Amino acid sequence: MSAELEILSMEYQTVDQTVCSLLLQTSQAAADRHLSPAQIHQLLQARPTLAAHSCRQQGLGQFGEKIAQASLPHLLEHLIIDRLVTKSNGTLVAGVTRWQNQPQGRAQVRLRLPVSLLPAVENAVRQAAQELNDLLADRLC
Ligand SMILES: [Zn+2]
Repeated sequence: MSAELEILSMEYQTVDQTVCSLLLQTSQAAADRHLSPAQIHQLLQARPTLAAHSCRQQGLGQFGEKIAQASLPHLLEHLIIDRLVTKSNGTLVAGVTRWQNQPQGRAQVRLRLPVSLLPAVENAVRQAAQELNDLLADRLC
């Protein structure tokens, strides 16, 4: 089975902070799917800090309240951030996810992070995509 989500490209812009733009492709089947309650449980067991992320998608709140309705690209954004904040010494890492073409599964994730985290981004992105694909390998609901 092919991966549900794939990173198409990564670009960086650095001024005083770094903005990293990722272009993503999900499978068409995955474009309007969400994690099942069992998958959410599994993910939060592995990454308990995920639930406490603040999240502005559809109003300010905690990601734990939004995870059941989160798109796969939005999940990826938070999985990347979760990896980066453990290395950021308290500096904020923020992200925004937007569909570019939801029916085709095309989305963009933009991350704003301190320049010091730049060397860690690529690995964080790869690992987060792998983690999400592994989680989805069972099935989508
Ligand atoms: Zn969010």
